[in-house]
Amino acid sequence: MTKKPFKAESKKLLEMMINSIYTQKEIFLRELISNASDAIDKLYYKTLTDDKLVFNKDDFYIKVSPDKTNRILTISDTGIGMTKEELENNLGVIAQSGSLAFKMENELQDGHNIIGQFGVGFYSAFMVADEVAVITKALGSDEAFKWESKGADGYTIEPYEKDEVGTDIILKIKDNTEDEQYDEYLDEYRLKAIIKKYSDFIRYPIKMEITGQRPKEDSDNEFEEYAEEQTINSMVPIWRKNKNELTDEDYANFYAEKHYGFDKPIKHIHISADGAVSYHAILFIPENTPFDYYTKEYEKGLELYSNGVLIMDKCAELLPDFFSFVKGMVDSDDLSLNISREMLQHDRQLHLIAKNIKNKIKSQLQSLLKNDREQYEKFFQSFSRQLKYGVYSDYGANKEVLQDLLLFYSSKEKKLVTLDEYVSRMPEDQKYIYYAAGESIDRIEKLPQTEIVSDKGYEILYFTDDIDEFAIKMIMNYQEKEFKSVSSGDLGIEADNDETATNEEDSHKELFDYMKDILKDKVKSVKASKRLKTHPVCLSTEGELTIEMEKILKAMPNSQDVKADKVLEINIHHEVFQSLKDAYEKDKEKLNLYTNLLYNQALLIEGLPINDPVEFTNDICKVMV
Ligand code: ADP
Ligand code: MG
Repeated sequence: MTKKPFKAESKKLLEMMINSIYTQKEIFLRELISNASDAIDKLYYKTLTDDKLVFNKDDFYIKVSPDKTNRILTISDTGIGMTKEELENNLGVIAQSGSLAFKMENELQDGHNIIGQFGVGFYSAFMVADEVAVITKALGSDEAFKWESKGADGYTIEPYEKDEVGTDIILKIKDNTEDEQYDEYLDEYRLKAIIKKYSDFIRYPIKMEITGQRPKEDSDNEFEEYAEEQTINSMVPIWRKNKNELTDEDYANFYAEKHYGFDKPIKHIHISADGAVSYHAILFIPENTPFDYYTKEYEKGLELYSNGVLIMDKCAELLPDFFSFVKGMVDSDDLSLNISREMLQHDRQLHLIAKNIKNKIKSQLQSLLKNDREQYEKFFQSFSRQLKYGVYSDYGANKEVLQDLLLFYSSKEKKLVTLDEYVSRMPEDQKYIYYAAGESIDRIEKLPQTEIVSDKGYEILYFTDDIDEFAIKMIMNYQEKEFKSVSSGDLGIEADNDETATNEEDSHKELFDYMKDILKDKVKSVKASKRLKTHPVCLSTEGELTIEMEKILKAMPNSQDVKADKVLEINIHHEVFQSLKDAYEKDKEKLNLYTNLLYNQALLIEGLPINDPVEFTNDICKVMV
């Protein structure tokens, strides 16, 4: 019989996995039992929706049978089975998804991370077995097949004899090595413990023959061994259990079992609602951003169960986009089994559940923020962009839900603060919530525009994310305080020498108008600055669009030519200003040179490109000679 090779990506994946992805080999059993349970689910679902199929409750079970003598461990199920084609497609290649293959090619070095984000369920058998055989008969089929493989070099499929529909997974357990006692996976008590730990909530009985000892009849001191079939798991799904009975570890195991992620969730939310709509849900806030989270490929959604039967893998309607990072499941008795995707969108019960869930997630995040700031910041690091995007999209429809979940770096506190914390610290005379936008905290700290606000003793929020300023424009005001960029025209700060500044401005009007003519429509006006203290020059803006926003909009694909209305501000108390005045009186060519230099300097400070760098450097040389 010819051996078929695994598809290329399977082979690499298999090797990598065998060598290290899972640190705990014992989870192979969790994976195989979970597949068995899925297979029974599929059959069970069919019996509920097809009257011609008659099954008994007792017909559904999983059996784990160790054979120590021959080093064989068998996991059997009475599930839906696989046809020959399904064997080929499901076990011959791990993930047909092009994106996995692509990622693997490119990031093989970093393989752990990538693979960590996919389930590689069935293949984990090779962590403990040299040889794996799958004997299976599909529902409605007369033939059965045997799939066999010794690992990375390929597999064979041949016709086989099997009476009942279902699947047997037969593992030839590896020999012990110096580091690894594979024998333990043949030991009843060890197997029992692994099943209890990871698969207790599986809805179908997981049976095993357990050997016990009992006194021999007619004897006081002689014992005999006997075997008895036991059901190892409690079969109560974890989400239907009482929260008080469950430990953090139980939830963490459930998260891993379900492949929601390979990280440790930051928080779990267990809901048992019994009101207008009754449902159970277990939700998780992951710790890490999935690698594809901010791409089109990422699919949000929760698993949806109806009365304990899985009806949908990723029900998107259950999660708002701004909470798309949440993983988990919902089980409700109020939903129909036969519900289709189209029907779901109009299902009133489902909408109620979704609304409920949204509120719950919000309140749980808020309590995390309040009670465990460190964990919250970890979460925020991973998913803040999504929250801010949520504030911005739909014309700010969700800002009320989200604004109190935002954090920004504070100039004063030197750490992340909430808007509420900011406002509660505002001195009475402070009118606005000030912010400064820029590439990094370092760069913002050096912006001349922050000087007067800081000197006044006011706190400034630093915006380093592209989306920050856009999100804030959507919020508009928080607790009746308006947001104000430190670069905006009117800062609402009364300078101590305001009076004189205005007078002086008037007296220099001619000079400033002249400079404006030199710069043409590069700026809207040139004026005496009320905000600069030590720096000679800066740019500010009039109107809604700030310079940071201009930069971001310009960087977007098919951007339009948007421009912030810029004002060149001159510090008239700086020595440079004297030179400007002198030049205005005596040497217009020099004034021309100075004006262009100052304008370009202001651009550089803002992190904007200057139009003609060669001309700029030549201009500097002209000043030097
Ligand atoms: P996943 O469970 O995430 O789909 P696995 O590698 O665990 O990935 O399994 C691959 C596929 O093989 C399953 O989706 C299923 O179609 C099939 N399969 C595995 N085990 C069984 C089984 N015991 N009975 C029927 N089908 C199975
Ligand atoms: Mg699986």
